[in-house]
Amino acid sequence: MNTERIEILANVSDDRRSEGHIIIQHFNKAEKTRTAIKKLALFWGIALVSVLIPVFHFVLVPLFFFLGFYFAHRGYKSDGLVLSGATTCPHCQNPVEIKKAQLNWPLSEICQNCARVVRIEKK
Ligand SMILES: [Zn+2]
Repeated sequence: MNTERIEILANVSDDRRSEGHIIIQHFNKAEKTRTAIKKLALFWGIALVSVLIPVFHFVLVPLFFFLGFYFAHRGYKSDGLVLSGATTCPHCQNPVEIKKAQLNWPLSEICQNCARVVRIEKK
């Protein structure tokens, strides 16, 4: 698996910074395309089922149709997957665990101790 460790800096929208790291998995073009198609299929599947719901289908069908495009595009733009990571909250020094997510800079996590939004950027 094509993984990489990246050093990061966390901030809570002020001058304080704390260090940390994340482990990411890079996607190649084929994997990106496959993920995008899966997302598209999922949302268009929901759109198709929504056709059967009276009245609401006027809203739901186009909604899921466009959501499919939106998430597929987002997934395609993403550079990979964050597998795991760790940093500390710049405000309260509490350890912040970075959960598995799509890699779109900047990342954000909520500090479990002080409930601040911790922004995570490349060092
Ligand atoms: Zn905190």
